[in-house]
Amino acid sequence: MREYKTQMEAARKGIVTEELKKVAQKEHLRVEELMPLVAAGKVAICANKNHKCLDPQGVGSMLRTKINVNLGVSRDWKDYDIEMQKVMAAVDMGADAIMDLSSHGDTTGFRRKLTSECPAMIGTVPVYDSVIHYQRDLATLTAKDFIDVVRLHAEDGVDFVTLHCGITRKTIDQIKNHKRKMNIVSRGGSLVFAWMTMTGEENPFYEYYDEILDICREYDVTISLGDACRPGCLADASDVCQIEELVRLGELTKRAWEKDVQVMVEGPGHMPMDQIAANMKIQQTICMGAPFYVLGPLVTDIAPGYDHITSAIGGAIAAANGAAFLCYVTPAEHLALPNVDDVKQGIMASKIAAHAADIAKHVPGAMEMDNKMADARRVLDWEAQWACAMDPETAKAIRADRAPEQEDTCSMCGKFCAVRSMNKALNGEYIDIL
Ligand code: SF4
Repeated sequence: MREYKTQMEAARKGIVTEELKKVAQKEHLRVEELMPLVAAGKVAICANKNHKCLDPQGVGSMLRTKINVNLGVSRDWKDYDIEMQKVMAAVDMGADAIMDLSSHGDTTGFRRKLTSECPAMIGTVPVYDSVIHYQRDLATLTAKDFIDVVRLHAEDGVDFVTLHCGITRKTIDQIKNHKRKMNIVSRGGSLVFAWMTMTGEENPFYEYYDEILDICREYDVTISLGDACRPGCLADASDVCQIEELVRLGELTKRAWEKDVQVMVEGPGHMPMDQIAANMKIQQTICMGAPFYVLGPLVTDIAPGYDHITSAIGGAIAAANGAAFLCYVTPAEHLALPNVDDVKQGIMASKIAAHAADIAKHVPGAMEMDNKMADARRVLDWEAQWACAMDPETAKAIRADRAPEQEDTCSMCGKFCAVRSMNKALNGEYIDIL
């Protein structure tokens, strides 16, 4: 019998949980350093007590930046076996979390398979699943139906749930009056907004927040406070709708912490580069240092097909300025359900952004592999370079495809190789170029 309900409660009581110990070890921190951060809500250890195969991770701006991979079937692409293969491949490639966004078929079976086989943190968006679970149209669902789905996901072992608690009936007028270019682009946010306009009722995730907190406390589900009003284009960034919702998310963070429920706060969206750092600072102030989970930010709107790059640029800036968790974006963003290659491209872009930010933040040990790579490059040791590479297979394939005449160099410069010339020059050797 656990003497605590959540990791936050354990930390506040001075109880060292197995999860806390493991996270401290991974992050090169002492337990005594990590515990007050979890107690204060600055680090979330998303670990549902029913997710037995979880390899726990901490999410916090002072820790290694984590990345999330969105997967799940849709009506157009509904093969759960292929989706499970993508999940395991994503974990092998370094995904710290998988968000199951399935919106078709046996969502319960797939969710349970995830929490019984996948060691990464599992997140869901219960409002998506409500329509599928009940097989009823949105307008016919009741507030109780939505809350019951949150409970179901909690019982199934989901580690964090995105809940769009921050929009209220006031948001309806604001969206209508403010005339944003892209209105609401959050899928869950748009469903909550649509339900409110069709039923005339208040947002159930806001109105019954206390009941939701009780469920999350019982199973230790971290609430990821969704940003329904995240900007969906550069022109809407940092507008009244976004900031007003953020203020409410700050209030909801405080209420969750009063019940020892862990919280993350979701963030933009699309945003010009010069606004990202300021947004991170505002979020940290309003939400009292709760881990920030950013969806991008995409730094331009005009690169469909390359949005893994537009979001990696924004993600790197965001994480270097305090974001703790990056949601990957694939080249298929705005275009289609990602295939296996899109998923790989998205993960790599996100990993690079997270790693670059960790180096800038001086996360302990972040630059170790970069230093090893520099040593390997200096002596033109290609095997050692593969061992340091984030994606050695791709690197090897490119080199093999365009092999050099001068074996120790590469075909970029051949005998003009600067590294080779410098090594020989510093050793007093003759440098043959022709
Ligand atoms: S040949 Fe040029 S690009 Fe290739 S390893 Fe040498 S210096 Fe670097």
